Amino acid sequence: MHEIGMCESVLAAVERRAAGRPVAGLTVRVGALLRVVPEAFAQSFELVAAGSVADGATPELVIVPVRGRCDSCGATFESHDAVPVCPACGSVTVTRTGGDELVLESIRYSAVAPAERS
Ligand SMILES: [Zn+2]
Repeated sequence: MHEIGMCESVLAAVERRAAGRPVAGLTVRVGALLRVVPEAFAQSFELVAAGSVADGATPELVIVPVRGRCDSCGATFESHDAVPVCPACGSVTVTRTGGDELVLESIRYSAVAPAERS
């Protein structure tokens, strides 16, 4: 359940940005390497956010793939693997970037957009 720790840091970012406004929903960019289970993340967030400005807010996850560049043939590609394999030549000697980010991308406020509530 490493989702709890992630949710705590996301909630801290939400609270800083919301500055007391009630939050209806949020979008979080999560690197594929963090291996987040969306259902577990949503449950953990509900738990962590109880009583905060984001109480009852629904987190939406955008899984960000790992970007790789092959050291052998120079191909660039995206992957969801911690040890990506070059799709062009099969080499595992690749330079990996990204895939481990945890970024609060956007917030939906319930007071600002009441039409979006269902
Ligand atoms: Zn290659």
